[in-house]
Amino acid sequence: MRNFKMARWAVGFGVCLAALTMSGCETTTSSGVVGANRQQLLLVSSDQMNQGAAQAYTEMKTDAQKSSVLNKDTAMLNRVRTIAARLQPQTQVFRPDALNWNWEVNVLESDELNAFCMPGGKIMFYSGLIKTLNLSDAEIAVVMGHEIAHALREHSREQMSQALVAQGAIGLGAALLGLGQGSANLANQGYSAFIATKFSRNDESEADRIGLELTARAGYDPRAGVTLWQKMMNASQGSAPPEILSTHPASANRIQEIQSLLPAVLPLYEAARR
Ligand SMILES: [Zn+2]
Repeated sequence: MRNFKMARWAVGFGVCLAALTMSGCETTTSSGVVGANRQQLLLVSSDQMNQGAAQAYTEMKTDAQKSSVLNKDTAMLNRVRTIAARLQPQTQVFRPDALNWNWEVNVLESDELNAFCMPGGKIMFYSGLIKTLNLSDAEIAVVMGHEIAHALREHSREQMSQALVAQGAIGLGAALLGLGQGSANLANQGYSAFIATKFSRNDESEADRIGLELTARAGYDPRAGVTLWQKMMNASQGSAPPEILSTHPASANRIQEIQSLLPAVLPLYEAARR
């Protein structure tokens, strides 16, 4: 009898797991005007991701401080923080809980053309991105909106979940309970694991969509999405292509896709300006 029950449980679990693996089991965001509603495979918990990210972010800041490259340019820091402060309230369209995140925004003095938002809202901008591409406020908002969108959609958590399944290194039951070896070690992986998340093209497309809506709702001209990515593309022809493109693979028609989103988000921009 017990075996029978166990067998039924195992079959049920297997079916559930297969369904989970095939189609995902939940989605992290509401859809907004141009957002995403794809189902996602999420085995690691948000808390674990956010905890790991917070620790990694602190380590990164400490290292940057030691090397005297943290928030060197006060004017630039204020500019970036002002833009972030306008974007953050807009996140509630996609997920109300993001308003309660422990958001942080800092600027790293570096020639790298890079920026990221770790799980839970830990944002880092590299001064090189703003200086080298001579970004306008609206273009900074587009980059930041895009990075925030990755965090709202929990793309890193999804990547981590997929990696756990792919590795098969831990018991999936344990992973479902959040007790997996891999996930338990998350906090110890250092910040590289969080910065170097390589997003899929699908993730990129979702982040472009949600990011553009955040930009427009915050009252920044979403048409800056076109000029921003044109600048990025031009820079990628040079000898030192933007680091941001190595973790954010672009589709060939990214600019066209952004252009096709403008009719939906421009009214939000007009409304926000009133
Ligand atoms: Zn991206």
